[in-house]
Formats: sequence, C-alpha cells, structure tokens
Amino acid sequence: MNSTIGVLAVQGDVREHVRMLDGLGVRATTVRRTAELDACDGLVIPGGESTTMAKLARTFDLFEPIRHRLKEGMPAFGTCAGMIMLADRIEDGTADQETLGGLDITVRRNAFGRQVDSFEGDLVFAGFDDPVHAIFIRAPWVEAIGPGVEALARVERGEAAGRIVAVRQGSLMATSFHPEVGGDSRVHRLFVDLVSEAK
Ligand code: GLN
Repeated sequence: MNSTIGVLAVQGDVREHVRMLDGLGVRATTVRRTAELDACDGLVIPGGESTTMAKLARTFDLFEPIRHRLKEGMPAFGTCAGMIMLADRIEDGTADQETLGGLDITVRRNAFGRQVDSFEGDLVFAGFDDPVHAIFIRAPWVEAIGPGVEALARVERGEAAGRIVAVRQGSLMATSFHPEVGGDSRVHRLFVDLVSEAK
C-alpha cells in the first residue's frame, strides 16, 4: 500500500513540502492534530522558525505525540528549522528552547552568521550522481554527530567548508538547506523510500 506522509503544519514552508511529495505520487497530508499524525507513516518537519514551531507544537498538543511516534521509530525528515527540531542538542538556541529530538546530533542555530544568512550552492550528496543545488536561509549547521549518524553532505567552499549540512540516522533525515524549494525531488525521494522501507 502507498505510504501517507504528513507535513507538520503549525508554522513554516508547509505548502512547498506537500507539493514536492504530491509530485512524487505520495499521499501527503498536513498535520495539525494528533488524529492526522496517527494516520501518517512518516513526518516532514519544514523550515520556518524553530522556537515558534516548538511552542506551537505544544499549543496544538502535538509535541509529546510526535516525540512518542519518533521513539517508536516513525521516519522523519527535517529541513532547516525542522533539522533543529529533530536534534538532540542545540547550540545558540534560546534559553527555554525545546526540541523533539531523535537525531544524535548537535546543531548550531543561525550558524552561517548574519552577513551571509542566505546563500545557495551546489553540494555533493551521498548516493546521488549529480550535486544538489542547496538553498540556505538563516540555516543551522551540524556541529557534531553521534556514532550512528551518517553525514550525507557538507559545505564545499568558503569559511564554512567541511561543515555537515545533511545527515541520516536510521529512518531519520535532516538537511540544513531547503530541498523543497526548486524542482529537485531527489532528497524527498530518499525520504519516501525510507518511509516505504520502514512500513
Ligand atoms: N533560523 C531558523 C531557526 O532557528 C531556521 C531558518 C529556516 O528554517 N529557514 O529556526
């Protein structure tokens, strides 16, 4: 049977993810209630603003149910703010900032600094023949990864060269950049395949 993939829809660039998943022929649904979460085989956590997203997820009574599903092994894919939401540890978060956790990584919020807070670049991505064109918007980078985490892509040039910007740990994935923007669906395809495998 086809998988249903939810997009957490309390804040952020929800529509872009839904469009991308639709284009891949997946049943994509927005998630604002626990009943919607229950119907999902996997969850995308979009870009946006991680502190606001965490607070709204609490307001919508979704925070603990998502945590619970992640602990049970639900596949999840976070982009930008979504990567922060999935990280076990944050640097430069706000004092009270909560994350869902699950990914054994430390992320640094707004890591690229204010001067270059938005930029684009081509990245070699593990398993892809051609580079991914990555769009970064006030993005985090991955400061450190645990032993079970694979680095899928790194910044190639400039002061941030070598910084990890895409990771995978089992059926959890995250990117610092926004693969939902632009026409390249390969990163989403990777997640869709993870969700099918996990079912
Ligand atoms: N800087 C944002 C945060 O800390 C993330 C930006 C984004 O998702 N484009 O949540």
